[in-house]
Amino acid sequence: MGGLYDIADPRFARLVLPNAGLEVLGAGFRWTEGPVWFADHEMLLFSDIPNDRVVRWTEAGVTVFLQPAGFANGHARDRDGRLISCSHHHRRLERREFDGRVTVLADEFEGRRLNAPNDVVVKADGSIWFTDPHYGINTDYEGGKQPAELPATVYRLGAEGGLSAVAADFAGPNGLCFSPDETRLYIAETGKQFEAEASKYVRVFEVDGARLRGGRHFCSVAVGNVDGLCADEDGNLWCSAGDGVHCFAPDGERLGAIITGDTVSNVAFGGRQRCRLFITGGTQLRAIYTNTRGAVRP
Ligand code: MG
Repeated sequence: MGGLYDIADPRFARLVLPNAGLEVLGAGFRWTEGPVWFADHEMLLFSDIPNDRVVRWTEAGVTVFLQPAGFANGHARDRDGRLISCSHHHRRLERREFDGRVTVLADEFEGRRLNAPNDVVVKADGSIWFTDPHYGINTDYEGGKQPAELPATVYRLGAEGGLSAVAADFAGPNGLCFSPDETRLYIAETGKQFEAEASKYVRVFEVDGARLRGGRHFCSVAVGNVDGLCADEDGNLWCSAGDGVHCFAPDGERLGAIITGDTVSNVAFGGRQRCRLFITGGTQLRAIYTNTRGAVRP
């Protein structure tokens, strides 16, 4: 029987609300991605990448926040609350200041242009960690196909500046997420485009100051691949997939899934109690109330 919840482990039954439904909060987009919650404004920002806009959702509805938006993909907030964005078209990581100006945080590494920053997270120490695969500069809608100049890499930008490559053994680093205590960094490997699903999985690294160690296989999904992911306050990982959102315990055990029946690109907890899971992907923005809460930075 195909239901909304796939409960693979009894622990998952305590993380979801059996009477909660999947809500469509917005529709008519082309491809939604990059959800980030602003608790102070009770709003969610997310990208509608092919339409080159960043969209704002509040309880009052959906409005355009920014257009054009440099074909922005992933977003995060820094320690001061400013919006950090991955720009495909400008091939850079950027920050929106309180006066509306845009500061370029990183657009090159060792003299070569970044490819297309995809997703970004900010650590409690103010450092910014982001992925730079080759996707995003190879579709015409993003402003014309451009050649990649750098290998697919995961970067760390220190709070005081200084860009370093922290993981280079990826074919396509994509979404990333710290464990709640920031001792681990999970990074989705989505491989080369049009490659077999077997090459697509989530890796887990130990965070050692400004470096990463390890990088073993952590989890994978049966349908599609993990693109974006986020952690709840207990460190369970909520991962996008080709059929919904799958939840994994910190030991890698799959707990269950919210089956949307279509491809999910990314997820973010938000809402007044941080228990609402916002889901991007396809032409919609959706959300579902859960019985857990999103992790907060230490
Ligand atoms: Mg992504």
